[in-house]
Amino acid sequence: MKPCPECQSNNVYRYEKYVEAEGPYGPNLLPKLAPGLFSTTKLLPVVCVECGYMRFFAAKEARHNIESSKHWLPI
Ligand SMILES: [Zn+2]
Repeated sequence: MKPCPECQSNNVYRYEKYVEAEGPYGPNLLPKLAPGLFSTTKLLPVVCVECGYMRFFAAKEARHNIESSKHWLPI
């Protein structure tokens, strides 16, 4: 996660734990990847202190389903 891909700074912080990828008032950043009907997907926010560039890393459970999902396309 270091250095920052924008400014190359090593002053980069991650949140202490993974957070929900979907909230009641925002977009779902990892749609159709929850492992079960009543489960959610999570992501890890990472922020560069120098330039403010923000990144999100998908949790392992979300990545597990992405290759077999018809909703996600390889680039
Ligand atoms: Zn930066």
